[in-house]
Amino acid sequence: MDILKIEHLSKIYGKGDTEVRALDDVSFTVPKGQFVAIIGPSGSGKSTLLHILGGVDTPTDGHVYVDGTDITTLDETALAIFRRRQIGLIYQFYNLIPILTVEENMTLPLLLDDKKVDRAHFDSLVQVLGLQHRLGHLPSELSGGRALMNNPAILLADEPTGNLDSKNSKEIVELLRQFNKALNQTVIIITHDERIALDADRMIAVEDGKIVKDEVIRQ
Ligand code: ADP
Repeated sequence: MDILKIEHLSKIYGKGDTEVRALDDVSFTVPKGQFVAIIGPSGSGKSTLLHILGGVDTPTDGHVYVDGTDITTLDETALAIFRRRQIGLIYQFYNLIPILTVEENMTLPLLLDDKKVDRAHFDSLVQVLGLQHRLGHLPSELSGGRALMNNPAILLADEPTGNLDSKNSKEIVELLRQFNKALNQTVIIITHDERIALDADRMIAVEDGKIVKDEVIRQ
């Protein structure tokens, strides 16, 4: 089953002389459970793509189906709900709220959504993440827990290795891989680092807003 289907996606910023075609007719599908790395030089359109997939930006043209729903047709309210329920967005792992404990951070999206916390699911997630002894701690230690608690259709990670040393970045990618394997969690990670891309199931290379390479590395 394809958890994500992107059809003829384009994004143009500005008009006339200052027009920038950040995405130019991009199409691809991602099956559920795939670990995808999107790679490309600075300015190639990676962040634009990630923001559109995450429902924080809208395309100029094209469609994005997440788990069967075309998110490009949603209004602001529906899009906000979609973001909260279907997307786990990890921006360089900074999206944890520092004054809340790890447990509070993980359950916050559910509480905002007026949902009861499913304890069994929470506990199994905590096990998978190895966070049993850290729930009461502040998230000064890295954790992608909050992004995962909602069972997101897609976990999006933006340059998770951007400003970490290589040992830390390896650990984070391994953690993402663990979520991916244990929960069949679809992961899309944007990276400059070709070594990370080669550890993914699939590598999509973007240049000038176009896909220039799309390679399955492992099934
Ligand atoms: P990457 O993430 O690969 O570095 P971006 O998606 O950030 O690339 O940018 C793609 C292109 O779109 C670049 O030329 C960038 O300058 C341009 N761009 C991105 N965001 C905006 C914006 N808000 N307004 C105008 N141009 C933008």
